[in-house]
Order: sequence, then C-alpha cells, then structure tokens
Amino acid sequence: MSKTVAILLPIPTERPYTYGVPEGMVLAPGDHVQVPLGPRKVAAVVWDGKVDEVNPKKLKAVEQKFDCPPLSKELMQFVEWIAAYTLSPPGMVLRMILRSPAALEPLPNTIAYKFAGKEPEKLTEARKRILTLARDGMAWSKSGLAHAAGTSASVVNGLITQGVLEEVEIPAGPLVPLPDNSYHQPELLEEQIDSAKALVETTEANKFSVSLLDGVTGSGKTEVYFEAVAKVLELGKQALILLPEIALTANFLERFQDRFGVKPGEWHSDIAPKKREQLWRQVATGEVRVVAGARSALFLPFHDLGLIVVDEEHDAAYKQEDRVFYNARDMAVVRGRLADAPVILSSATPSLESRVNADRGRYHYLRMEARYGEAVLPDLATIDMRKNPPPRGGFISPILRQAIGEAVERGEQALLFLNRRGYAPLTLCRVCGHRFQCPNCTTWLVEHRFRKQLQCHHCGHNDKVPEVCPSCGTFDHLVACGPGVERLAEEVVDIFPDARTLILSSDLMGGVKRLRLELDAIAKGECDIVIGTQLVAKGHNFPLMSCVGVIDADLGLSNGDPRAAERTFQLLSQVTGRAGRAGGKSFGFLQTYQPEHPVIQAIAAGDREAFYEREILGRQSSGLPPFGRLASIIVSASTRNEAEGQAKAMRRLAPKEAGISILGPAEAPIAILRERHRFRLLVHGDLGVNLQAWLRKWLAASPKEKGSIRVQIDVDPQSFL
Ligand code: ADP
Ligand code: ZN
Repeated sequence: MSKTVAILLPIPTERPYTYGVPEGMVLAPGDHVQVPLGPRKVAAVVWDGKVDEVNPKKLKAVEQKFDCPPLSKELMQFVEWIAAYTLSPPGMVLRMILRSPAALEPLPNTIAYKFAGKEPEKLTEARKRILTLARDGMAWSKSGLAHAAGTSASVVNGLITQGVLEEVEIPAGPLVPLPDNSYHQPELLEEQIDSAKALVETTEANKFSVSLLDGVTGSGKTEVYFEAVAKVLELGKQALILLPEIALTANFLERFQDRFGVKPGEWHSDIAPKKREQLWRQVATGEVRVVAGARSALFLPFHDLGLIVVDEEHDAAYKQEDRVFYNARDMAVVRGRLADAPVILSSATPSLESRVNADRGRYHYLRMEARYGEAVLPDLATIDMRKNPPPRGGFISPILRQAIGEAVERGEQALLFLNRRGYAPLTLCRVCGHRFQCPNCTTWLVEHRFRKQLQCHHCGHNDKVPEVCPSCGTFDHLVACGPGVERLAEEVVDIFPDARTLILSSDLMGGVKRLRLELDAIAKGECDIVIGTQLVAKGHNFPLMSCVGVIDADLGLSNGDPRAAERTFQLLSQVTGRAGRAGGKSFGFLQTYQPEHPVIQAIAAGDREAFYEREILGRQSSGLPPFGRLASIIVSASTRNEAEGQAKAMRRLAPKEAGISILGPAEAPIAILRERHRFRLLVHGDLGVNLQAWLRKWLAASPKEKGSIRVQIDVDPQSFL
C-alpha cells in the first residue's frame, strides 16, 4: 500500500481524511468508496486536493469501491461552495448527498417466472388461464400473473412447484418510465406563450441563467414551465422541480402525468427508503429524467442536469434550519451556475430578493397578469374588527358570517384561514391566572382538543389537559384564550350546523395520506366550509371556492422579523388567491384591527406593485436584505449564565471592520428551547464586505465551545425567534 488518497467522510470534519489505496484499486475524485472509521464502515467519497500526512502505521485502507457513477465535479464543487457559504463542515454537506448508502450498490435483479415448456399434471380452469398468458414466453411477476389470470397466488405457486413455470432473474427496470414530452400539449394563451417561449429559449441555450416567472395565482405558471421541462427532455437531459411541500402535492404529480403521460420521480421524506434508494441510483445513472422533490432533492447526484425549477420560490419551507442552515432557493441558483444549467423561479408573490434581482436585470423577468380561462381574482375587502366585532367568544365578524352563508347557499365553498393549529394558543386558570407553559421552552402550551392534549409547538412536549389547575387546585376552571383552527371549527359548526365542515391542519391524525384525500375532497366539492392553516395556501386548486375569509390578517405583522410584512403579504395573497378559480364572482375578506396598515391596504387594493415598491424602499433605507447582509448567531447552553457569558465574550472579541456591525447579544424571543437557554447576536454587513471571511475570523477569535455551549450560525436568516 504505497499510495494514499483524500476521502471526504459524511461527518462533521473540515477536511478530508487520508486513506491508503490497496494494490490494484484505481480511484479518482468523485468515486464512492467504503472506508473504516473506528469500528464502523462508512460510505464516503474520494475528494480532490491535498491530504494530511498520516503515520503509515496508522494508515487505514479503502475497503471497497462501489459500482456506482462517481459524484460529478459540479456536485463536489457544490458541496464546497455550500460549506464555505454557510460555514458548515463540508462533511456535513456531503452527508446530505449520501443519504442513501444502499443506493451505491447496483439494484438487485428481480425474480420473475416464465413458462418452462412442460405441461402441468392436471389442467384446471385457473391453470389454463395462467398458461394462456405465460405461453408467449414473457416473464411475469408472481402477483402480476395471478392478477392477470384472475387466480390466487397459490395456483401460480403450484405450477412453480411442478416446474411448469421457471424462475428467471431480470434486471430491475427504471423506477419511473420516460416522460413523453409531447403526450399532451396544452394550448397556451398569448401571455403564456410569451413566457413559455422565453423559458424554452433559456433551456435550449443550455447554460446558466435565472428566470423569474411572476404570475398571479391561476395564471398557469405550471403549464408554462412544463414547456421548459419538455425541452429538457427533448435535449436528453434531466430536470429537477423543487416544491415547498411535496408531500401535499399529489395534485402536482397528477398534472405532470396529464402533461407527460407518467409521474415524475418523487423525492421527499415520506417516500419509502427502498424507493428513495432506487431513485437516487437512477438519478445518478440518468435513467430517471425528471424529479419533483422537497428541498433535499437539490442534493441528488444528477447525471446531466439541464434545468432546475423552484416552484413557489418565496416559500419559507425552502429554508433548512438544522445542522446545515441553507436556503434551497438560493442554493438552487448556485447549483444551476455550477452545473451551467438554467434555473426558473416561479411564484405569484416573489421574494423581495428575487424581485430586486429581476429589477436589476440579473434575472430574466417574465410576468403573467391574467388568470387562465374564466378565473378572475376575488374582490378583496378589509373588515375593520373594531367596528364589526364578532359576538362574544367568537372570531367571525357578522360581515364574514353573512358572506360564508351566501357562498354555501349558492352551492359554493368558503375557506376560513387561520394560521394557528390546535384549539387555543393559550390556556389559563380563571381562578389563579396560572398559564400553562412548556417545561422545556419559554412558550405557551397549545390546547389540542381532539387529542385532549396541551402541546408545545416548538419541542413537541405534550401533557394531558388536566381537570385541576396544577397551581391552585381548582377543579374545572381552565379557559382557552384566543383562537386555533379547532376552536374556529366549533364556531362554524355552531353557526352553520348543516354545512359540511372540514379542518385542514398538518397535525391531524392520518398524516399526509389523509391530507391528500381531504384536499381531493375539497377540490371535488365534497365539503362546504374549509378551515385551514397555511397548508391551504400552497398552490392547490379548489374550483368551487368563492369566499375566503382571513380570520386574523394582523397575525404576523408585528413580530420583530424584518420579513414580517413580506410574509404577511405573500401568505394573504396566496390564501385569497384560492378563490375564484373557476369563474364567477368571488370574495376575499381580511379581518383586521389595523385596516390602515400599508400591507393590508396593498393586499386589499390588489396593488402588489405598491407593496413591492414600498417594501423595497424600506429595505433599501435600512440596508436590510437584499441591500445588506445578515447573519444570525445563536448561542445556547444548558444554563443561562453560560449562554450569556459566551455571547458577551464573542461580542467583545469581534474583529472591528468597516461595514460590519453587531446587534446584541440579547435573549432570544424564545429564551429557552428544548431546555437550552438562548442568546442571539445579529451581524449586519454592507453589500461590499466578505461576510463569511469576517465570520470565520470572528469564530477563530472567539472562546471555544466548552461544555454545553453551542454556537450556531445562520447566514441569511429567515427566522428571528
Ligand atoms: P398557477 O401555478 O399560476 O397558480 P396553474 O398552472 O396552477 O396556475 O394553472 C391554474 C389552472 O389553469 C390549472 O388548473 C391549469 O391546468 C389551468 N390552465 C392554465 N393554463 C392552461 C392552458 N393553457 N390550457 C389548459 N389549462 C390551463
Ligand atoms: Zn417546548
């Protein structure tokens, strides 16, 4: 063993490790290998670059090279780029690529059966049917044959035992068949044709570019970017479509199938591991041509990536806030650049970052202002809750109540939107004022009445709802404060006892399967009033929905988050955009205590340009993203003292540099999370400064993380809790 090689392991290391290369093994950068790590064997990747000297006695050897296409140079660069940008160890970024180690081995052959040429001892009717099918020499799966012949598997088994059918091994076929780019071409409208043409052109150019497809809800953005996907298929390349909430996007898969004849490869946490492994492997070999997936799909080892689409690009779900903190929208643009492939960002309410990039001409800007077909945007109005208060104990104002009633009367649907899961966000004792707080976090416990639980939405802690106040011992005097969707549903059922009411919330029993069924049921008109959290805001098509009521439009406007206005604007525009998709008149109502607030006014007036203009000016004057850069540092520890001490020491030791300022440390809004005390520092950098380089210098100068202390860095933070 004379040669050594650099290997990057999927563990939190800054640098590749050195391993020996056994005689006869030829390794090149990107190759997948198995190496020993302590007592374990891990899948890792041969890396480029310098290796540390290792004492030859301690040098361990690569054990195996997998029979799998190597990581592309592009993907290796992507790992290093993200690591440098997010200040994460490259090994942790690599780990996001190597999520399916079993996929590194070729797929096992599948077992099938075919006619062996020998007649059975006794020819029953069932056996006859099987043989009629099998005689043509084709191989069948056991269940497939039984099913096609209308017999049970035991009849097939009988024939196998007799040697009438023989076992054959065939290579596993592709997981998903090849999409057909001309399966069903829609007739596009003028505005759609222009946008589609532009996207097809950038796709055909076959080099990096970014297009922002900005079209109102229902303008047909999906149909339009499908044309670019069709072009990629024609070019023989692969496409990745990122969706913020794929588990709920059954509808999307169906639309893809309507257009291309088959479903795309699907990638998200709800897919069975085996399927995921197959998909990973077939993406690497290039057999799977189109993948629709959640943000983690961005780390799939595409063989020849020709297009990335980020649907609902503004969505906060693209931000991962765990280990490697990254925004999949931004990283999609990076991957597009490294792979020299075009990127399409699509949204009805683009993020300010993307809008500004488009305004500056960095992105192609494609705008679609008309809804497809009969669909017209709803008439929007604010309801001033100070003047039109709901009845005592209720949350629905008389105006909204009447509008819901009228919609249901007409045989149409109403949607009530409230971004609060559970029954009530706070429970207290009427006698002593005791408030139920999470034992692990500084948060209120949320009552979930269906499950009879008090639950922390941050750490998952839950208690049974007690009958007695734990503080004063009074029996049966707990009151629910404020609304959650469950409580709202109670009110709706009270007011409209004959209407079919449905709650849509991510935490209800039955998980994703049930949600998909429910979304389907709504689309088919099988319910009258839907009460939903932000789940309903995401891209669904409800043709019969003609009345949307936002219960608390102010929620989210005033929480110290620089993006609060933008988020509220996006969410409310998306929610009200659910109405009026199938023509006819439709209405959207915003219940608010501050109808004069510019965001509420802009939404109600349907004046998005006013909103963007104002918000862009505001960000510009305060140097907030995209006119300045932010990084948030969370220092946490098991005691308040340790966390505060570390945060203060870091503040003191921060290098001075022009264009960089630090806010804090301050106790985080969620001061304790999962039993850890948290302090925040917020770094602001002017556009010209190299924020990462400065952060690295700072971390190097800071005291080491001792004991329970952890320092977490979030570049381009989305959350300020
Ligand atoms: P968006 O993503 O912009 O909200 P969608 O792509 O979901 O819009 O389109 C809204 C609806 O209009 C969908 O049901 C879609 O199938 C339909 N649609 C849009 N454009 C066309 C077209 N050119 N031909 C047929 N149906 C279309
Ligand atoms: Zn908690």
